[in-house]
Amino acid sequence: MRILVTGGAGFIGSNIADAFVARGDDVVVLDDLSTGREANVPRQARLEKHDIRSPGAQKVIATFRPDVLCHLAAQLDVRKSVADPAYDADVNVVGSLRLFESCRTAGTRRVLFSSTGGAIYGEQDVHPCDETHPERPVSPYGVAKLAVEKYLHYYSVVYGFKATCLRYANVYGPRQSPHGEAGVVAIFARKLLNGEVPVVNGDGAQTRDFVFVGDVVRANVLALEKDLTGSFNVGTGVETSVVQLYDAIRKAVGSDVLAKHAPAKLGEQMRSSLDASLLERRAGFRPRTPLDEGLRATVDYFRTSDV
Ligand code: NAD
Repeated sequence: MRILVTGGAGFIGSNIADAFVARGDDVVVLDDLSTGREANVPRQARLEKHDIRSPGAQKVIATFRPDVLCHLAAQLDVRKSVADPAYDADVNVVGSLRLFESCRTAGTRRVLFSSTGGAIYGEQDVHPCDETHPERPVSPYGVAKLAVEKYLHYYSVVYGFKATCLRYANVYGPRQSPHGEAGVVAIFARKLLNGEVPVVNGDGAQTRDFVFVGDVVRANVLALEKDLTGSFNVGTGVETSVVQLYDAIRKAVGSDVLAKHAPAKLGEQMRSSLDASLLERRAGFRPRTPLDEGLRATVDYFRTSDV
């Protein structure tokens, strides 16, 4: 298949691009390298360096005419979305629409969209929550992701798009950037390996559902192969507190450095975990990588990488 992976130079996108290349697909990566790295792009894939909102991106779609759009490119800094909601919407909503319009003209009907569980549901009524939980995003980033899911519904009804929206929990693994505000696993691992003291916001009792990138890749491939449409959670259902996570990373690194605690971040979500049993029922998906194993693989990556 001809597959266009937007954001394919980034953390999750490049791991997905690797999997498509391994399947024998013809992969083009569309990425402006704003947070991604050329070195992440598989050698067998072609990198097209464009912003998803640009005429250059439209041209790539018109000439490549992909069978599948796997869309990950995004502004994914939640705090930035709060500071500048219009910019967030411009990249995440308008940018996505520009891609979908180009796809419509080029005859592309299959879309895999990287959405978010944590940011779409907001503070949950039940833990873990499934896809029937009310959508109450409390950040412009979450609103934008939900809007794109709704637009994809529109495109499916009106233009026959077949779209799978995969709502990820907190993804971690090799190639995650340790330089942003998010990506707590990458940040802790990189700091501990550098001999620095990591900072935990608040008491560290806030919980997240950490899912290994290899499992997220498999969810994308399964969604395509099983021809799934609709929205699906991708998570483990297991809540891990930041303090527990820190200890597990410390063990994987072999460090005895204790974290510093800083004041809690205002408005930070307290708990988050996703029930992915719908994806299990529909596609046989189950996360396979236990946290300890995934953390070891991630720490090993950071030991040998220059990021
Ligand atoms: P990432 O920053 O590593 O990847 C994003 C990629 O998109 C980068 O390579 C970046 O250069 C590219 N990009 C950004 N803006 C662009 C633009 N305007 N035009 C072209 N390319 C652009 O982040 P990631 O963690 O791999 O996230 C990938 C996707 O998964 C995003 O859509 C994100 O919202 C979603 N997601 C991630 C997580 C997580 O825990 N990391 C959780 C839920 C959803």
